[in-house]
Order: sequence, then C-alpha cells, then structure tokens
Amino acid sequence: MALKQEITNLPELVNKLKKKDRELFNRFYSIKLSVGMLKVTPEMENFVKNRFKSIEKTENQKIVCINNKFTWEGNLFNELRSMRPKPKTKFMPSELDNKENCLFCNIEKQTPLDIFGRIKGKHCITASNIAKYDKFHGLIIFKEHNPMKLKKTWLKDYLETAEKWFDQTDKSNKGMVNNFLIWNCLWRSSASIIHGHMQVTASETKYQKIIKLEEIYDQYKKKFKSDYFADLFKIHKNLGLGEKIGKSMVLYYLTPIKEKEIIILSKEKKFSEMGGLIYGLIENYFRIGVQSFNISITNIKGYWMVRLVDRGSLENRNSDIGAMELYGNSVVAYDPFRLAKEIKI
Ligand SMILES: [Zn+2]
Repeated sequence: MALKQEITNLPELVNKLKKKDRELFNRFYSIKLSVGMLKVTPEMENFVKNRFKSIEKTENQKIVCINNKFTWEGNLFNELRSMRPKPKTKFMPSELDNKENCLFCNIEKQTPLDIFGRIKGKHCITASNIAKYDKFHGLIIFKEHNPMKLKKTWLKDYLETAEKWFDQTDKSNKGMVNNFLIWNCLWRSSASIIHGHMQVTASETKYQKIIKLEEIYDQYKKKFKSDYFADLFKIHKNLGLGEKIGKSMVLYYLTPIKEKEIIILSKEKKFSEMGGLIYGLIENYFRIGVQSFNISITNIKGYWMVRLVDRGSLENRNSDIGAMELYGNSVVAYDPFRLAKEIKI
C-alpha cells in the first residue's frame, strides 16, 4: 500500500527520497516523532468520541516535532489540537459590511496624509498611519470596505499603489533600505479596523528577522556553495509540498509559524507581478474556511518573500498564539500535506 502523504509519515516519506534528496532534507531539518499517551475515563468516552472521533487516537496522540537547523524554526504538529473545544463569540458575516462610523470609508477627512501627500490607485488610496512604528508608516486603504470582498484587479492595484508609495518614500528620503508590506485581515490577525487596508513601512534599518534570514542565506552560500532558498524549495518540492508557478516558488511550509502557512519565493521584478498568484492563494484560503490572515511581503537577497498565515475563525474568543508560540515552538494542527492537496493554483 502506498504511503499516505501526511505529516505523521514524514520520517518514512523522507526515507523514500533519493539519497541526494534525503541528505539535503537532513541538512535542513531534524524530525522527532513521539506519542503522547493518556487514559480516557468511562464518563468521558462519549465526549471524546464526539469531539475527537476516536478514543484510541486520543489515548495515543502522534506528535511530530520538526526543526529547521538553520533558522531555528521549530514546530509541534498534532491534528487533534484543532478539535479542542474553544470559547466562541457570535459573529454574523453581515458585520463585515457595516460601514457605520468607519473612518476608512471617509479617508480624505478622517485619516492623516503622508508628508508627500496621498497616492491614489484605481481601487485604493494611501494614508499615513496615525500611530507609527517606523520612520515612514503608511496605509493602503481599499475602496471596498469589506476585506473579504476581493478581486484580482483590485489586489494588483493595491500592490501597485504600495510600490508607488515605496518609490515616494525613497524620493523623500534616500537610504530607505527597509521596505516592508503587511496585510492584517480582520481582528484575529490583529487588525484594529474592519475596513480592508494594508500597511507599508520604510526605514533605514531592516527588521531583525529579515537580517537573520539574510545572514543564513550568506552563510549557507559560503558553506554549501548553493542557494538557501532554492534548496529549501527543492526539499518541499521533493515531498510534494512545493510548486513552481512562473517565476515564483510556492511552499506549503514544513515549519509554519502558525496554521496553513504558505511562502512564496519569487524572482519577479516587482512584487505586484505576484498579484495574480497571491489573489489565487487568498481565494483558496477563503474556500477552505480561512477568515482572518496575515500577509507580509519583503525582499531578501533578490527574492520576494511573501508569507501568508491563517489566524483562525472570527468566532474564536481565545488567541491562537500562546506562551508556547512566543517562547517555545509553534504548535500547529493543520497538516502541510493536506494544505498542499487543498490549495489549487
Ligand atoms: Zn469602511
């Protein structure tokens, strides 16, 4: 019988790779499988069957620990975690269309502007962030209030407008080596305003996580005479977790920061050229039930790096990130192999 493509079979899947590919995997990752055991009481049996579907699987939980040896990204996978009961709050999708008192529906009057003014796209307009966390900190505010209403042409326009904003900051102040774009979509992702908007920052100092990745890239090149990102993609592709789309590589990431993380590494000239691909991934996200997500885009060593991550249901009351994610490893329930099958681009 063919070995099932799932995270709990990762050691066997790696063993089946060609020697060269297996060695490359082992250069990057260490894996440890363990079984967390417990005893279900007779009084809990019905609850466990309903909630976790199987008493046996609950009593013997397969936990997969994966570590990237270069970045120190580390994960603990256990599918059962997604079945836990969670405190919920009522959410009606119509809430996302409620424009009452929305500051971003009245951009020109209710939002400040950057020192170089506003940049107007066809489907968005820029504003200056009122509480900044970097030298230049702007907003790309969508004309559409509801961020879950999205079109490919709109997204491309948002990204092109962001590119113009970065050009403008560079003209205003030379030496802005740090250009960073983020989109926090809805409250689970930390967005404070429902109205769809991206954030853009430009400054003289790169962010630490980016500097660290650049260092890893350089050291890897020196030690292995090879390209870190190209090899990272190769590993994912060998396992069925990576696809090449034009000039972009899509990775269903083996060490996701949280649920359903996807990374794009691209040699496109401009990041707006990835608009169609990013749109396709967001559409897929919506189709598989993602409601709130984070996206970041930046350039690392000539690669555009786009990261997308699911932040959970809009009904959840508890945060998806706890002390373990902040100070230990990322705990993830959604299998990247399942994600690779679900996403169709
Ligand atoms: Zn609005």
